[in-house]
Amino acid sequence: MSEKFDAIIVGAGPGGCAAAYSLAKMGFNVLIVERGKYPGAKNVMGGRMYAHALNRLIPEFWKEAPVERMVTREKLTLLCNKASVTIDFQDEELLVPPNSFTLLRAKFDQWFANRVVEAGATLVSNIKVDDLLWKEKQVAGIVAGTDKIEANMVIAADGAVSLISEKAGLKRFEVKQFALGMKEIIELPEKTIEDRFNLSGGEGAAQLFVGQCTKEIPGGGFVYTNRTSLSVGIVVYIDRLIEKKIDSHEILREFNQNPAVAKLIEGGKILEYSAHVIPETSRSGLFTDGMLVVGDAGGLVVNSGITLRGMDMAIASGAAAAEAVKNAIEKNDFSKECLSYYEDLLKNDFVLKDITTFKKAPEFLQNERLYTLYPEIACRLFHRLASVEGPKRRAFDELLEETKGNKMKMILDMIKGMRSI
Ligand SMILES: Cc1cc2nc3c(=O)[nH]c(=O)nc-3n(C[C@H](O)[C@H](O)[C@H](O)COP(=O)(O)OP(=O)(O)OC[C@H]3O[C@@H](n4cnc5c(N)ncnc54)[C@H](O)[C@@H]3O)c2cc1C
Repeated sequence: MSEKFDAIIVGAGPGGCAAAYSLAKMGFNVLIVERGKYPGAKNVMGGRMYAHALNRLIPEFWKEAPVERMVTREKLTLLCNKASVTIDFQDEELLVPPNSFTLLRAKFDQWFANRVVEAGATLVSNIKVDDLLWKEKQVAGIVAGTDKIEANMVIAADGAVSLISEKAGLKRFEVKQFALGMKEIIELPEKTIEDRFNLSGGEGAAQLFVGQCTKEIPGGGFVYTNRTSLSVGIVVYIDRLIEKKIDSHEILREFNQNPAVAKLIEGGKILEYSAHVIPETSRSGLFTDGMLVVGDAGGLVVNSGITLRGMDMAIASGAAAAEAVKNAIEKNDFSKECLSYYEDLLKNDFVLKDITTFKKAPEFLQNERLYTLYPEIACRLFHRLASVEGPKRRAFDELLEETKGNKMKMILDMIKGMRSI
């Protein structure tokens, strides 16, 4: 390819597609390069996307996108070996406009990439970008195999381990900054899913699990309902996994065997297994001369313990990157000074605001008591309240009994929690 592009985007995940879509709509000459056989072929995700960012880009996208179910039921389960306590939350106000959808990335990414091509961008799949082209000290294109392709701007949207930001000197891979996500897609009949999760047509559930499911390693489990399958998985901090010498497959197997999970997936057939890293605290530089970084590549992920958000962050940062490229092209200035406009856009939008708000969350979520002591207290307390054998005590007295010896720790953890999540 001898043509020079206005922008080359590396990676056709949600971040790359959002950037390419926005730039193509603005009329720029855009190339998007994806190493997978097709967009989505290599992508793993728990299965729930918060809708707001894509809704800004493609209003009411759910009417045409291959989403699985609109999440109408949120559940949080505190898990012990033989008992569990579940909060089941429903709110009609979260349905209009829809708050979140479950989806399968292989289908969703292909749909989004098709929209990118329809908007006028050129998509090349099955090609891995190996390196950056430089002109003096400015990024000036990409190298893929023996091909060298020039562009005014490069956008790194190549995911959590971003080779491209590393090549630009914006990132260094450190294991302790990453969590590991493992996921199975388990096929079940539509009716079985709706019966088990108390749903009717099109409705979906998102259920998070904390406690006896990660072998005391900070993290949690999830089950999301798709139309005819469940996305079932675990997210744990990698360094703790290595430290405790625990096999990640074993954690997922035990999670699936816990009675509270086993009855949800019973009779299902595993269609797919995948694992991927999540850049929970791996922030990288977001711009340099001739280049911007979006989505996971820039560490733009927020895990507040209740919500894990990477897709909406990737889409919003991709759209902001497109605005910054437009501004740079109009000024014919691709210096990092001019491109710092990208960071300003992210600071004024939810992306960097939310990252700042939840910056202490990863540290708080490392507290082992959240995964051991507190689920156990909750399960034992409900056991005491539910069981009838001999004289009963009032609920408050049972609570005092259960928390005996732990009150100070609980108060301090609560204060820390209020400041972090
Ligand atoms: C188990 C798990 C559960 C998750 N659950 C959720 C969830 O429920 N909700 C949520 O919002 N987020 C979730 N996330 C996070 C979410 O998946 C990511 O934040 C999101 O996919 C980031 O999008 P992205 O476009 O930045 O990167 P990616 O989706 O990773 O896309 C990067 C793309 O770049 C391509 N690529 C990489 N290197 C190259 C190269 N050198 N050349 C060409 N192409 C390249 C890849 O093939 C890929 O298509 C989860 C993640 C995991 C692992």
